[in-house]
Amino acid sequence: MTSMVQLQPYDEHNQKLESFVHPPEWANPEPSGRYNLVVIGSGPAGLITAIGAAGLGAKVALVERDLMGGDCLNVGCVPSKGVISAARVAAMVRDASEFGVNVPDGWGIDFNAAMTRMRKLRADMARHDSATRFRELGIDVFLGSGSFTGDGCVEVAGKKLNYKRAVVCTGGRAAKLPIPGLDQIDYLTNESIFSLTELPKRLIVIGGGPIGTEMAQSFARFGSKVTQIEKAPNILSREETDAALVVQQAMEKDGVNFVLNANTVRVEKRGNEKVVVVEQAGQEREIVGDQLLIGIGRTPNVDGMGLENVGVKFHERHGIEVNDNLQTTNSCIYAAGDVCSKFKFTHAADFMARIVIQNTLFKGRGKASALTIPWATYTSPELAHVGLGPDEATQQGVEIDTFTQPLDGVDRAILEGDDEGFVRIHVKKGTDKIVGATIVATNAGDMISEITLAMTHGLGLKKIASTIHPYPTQGDAIRKVGDLYNRTRLTPFVKGLFRKWLSWTR
Ligand SMILES: Cc1cc2nc3c(=O)[nH]c(=O)nc-3n(C[C@H](O)[C@H](O)[C@H](O)COP(=O)(O)OP(=O)(O)OC[C@H]3O[C@@H](n4cnc5c(N)ncnc54)[C@H](O)[C@@H]3O)c2cc1C
Repeated sequence: MTSMVQLQPYDEHNQKLESFVHPPEWANPEPSGRYNLVVIGSGPAGLITAIGAAGLGAKVALVERDLMGGDCLNVGCVPSKGVISAARVAAMVRDASEFGVNVPDGWGIDFNAAMTRMRKLRADMARHDSATRFRELGIDVFLGSGSFTGDGCVEVAGKKLNYKRAVVCTGGRAAKLPIPGLDQIDYLTNESIFSLTELPKRLIVIGGGPIGTEMAQSFARFGSKVTQIEKAPNILSREETDAALVVQQAMEKDGVNFVLNANTVRVEKRGNEKVVVVEQAGQEREIVGDQLLIGIGRTPNVDGMGLENVGVKFHERHGIEVNDNLQTTNSCIYAAGDVCSKFKFTHAADFMARIVIQNTLFKGRGKASALTIPWATYTSPELAHVGLGPDEATQQGVEIDTFTQPLDGVDRAILEGDDEGFVRIHVKKGTDKIVGATIVATNAGDMISEITLAMTHGLGLKKIASTIHPYPTQGDAIRKVGDLYNRTRLTPFVKGLFRKWLSWTR
């Protein structure tokens, strides 16, 4: 069995990773009777479904064609955050003199060492997702490509697995950019960038979404000359524009050159150089680099799985069609994770898996629409969001009031030199009911959880305002937004009443 993702360089760390997530000597078990669940795909969605169901006593088969742990462990969250952490240290050393810390001239970045660190950490973490661990938990693990051959049957590596319910958790892959020339050059995607051992002198990134943006900033901080191309007027175009602009400006300080409002027309190879031709305001221009990363979005893995044999409807771009209970158009087959959701995040896959367990094993009625799903982009500063933004609120006819606390009014942010950003909370007009929030801050990804908790459990801004936060913390900015809300309740009428009461009681 060979893996599709190339684990390069094939060093001790990647060999260790392979031994956990795709052991070369692995022998598939003999299928034994009918399974309660056959789970296809072992990324976060598949792993949580399998482990949760087996823990409740279900007989479970888990099928993986490539590397257990899926994108998240192998070519997604884990390696990207490993790279980002090294790049953050590089930026801290670069900026140390602003804090009065003198770093001797001649300090440098050992890119290969940073990538080796990432590979080591990834391999160490892979133990949790290992084939052996799942077998020890009583799950039949099959390495091979799973496909539906008929109702109630999935075939993998020549073995037939009969099931009562099946769950498709096959995730996605980097979307292809349909432009001339791309097939003639070597380019990077999230499947290959983490295999680099040499820092490209010049890196071109096509795509201004979270993946391209996180890598553009990191590689610039390592010392690459990075150009990021985006067809929208700003990067991270799914976010509130002023929030995205804070990140964009921070990245400009890191040296990233942005080419915005630009359509990529074609790609050429000139000697060892890669040339991307873009059209901007009616003019063509060339961007030259040594490596090219494409991060323009994700394509769901729906092909070659026999979905059409069992009446599961799917769309090449949007993935498998599911109802709110995550049931596909075949009532015995469910789906979870990137393959069926617009929320393409590990934590979303995790919570969808929990719904699937409930609905497949216990006739539950768990609903995906009941989930409040935050997300974060791990740039410096981070950008995190939950719930509605102003545009979505308008589209849904929800009238909102918005409260924003800039970080230059938050002592801890000032002291840390991280005062560009804000905490913004949207509430239902005239109430303190939180409907959404955006945070741009060093640890926005951690901070957003307080607001997610409040939204999930119906705690309003008044409750947040009355919750003591330690001083000085950046999290205190969230409480300050509560204060902003409270101030709006102090209308001239209320103030007048207070004044009267205080003069009577003087
Ligand atoms: C660079 C990058 C950074 C990211 N960073 C973050 C982050 O910081 N935070 C976050 O929340 N999310 C992040 N994500 C997204 C996150 O990785 C995904 O949302 C998550 O992995 C989705 O889990 P999943 O189980 O749905 O699919 P996947 O993780 O894609 O797993 C699907 C699995 O199914 C297997 N498979 C496919 N077809 C078959 C078949 N026919 N038979 C058997 N097996 C099959 C695949 O090999 C794969 O292992 C990142 C993604 C990328 C690419």
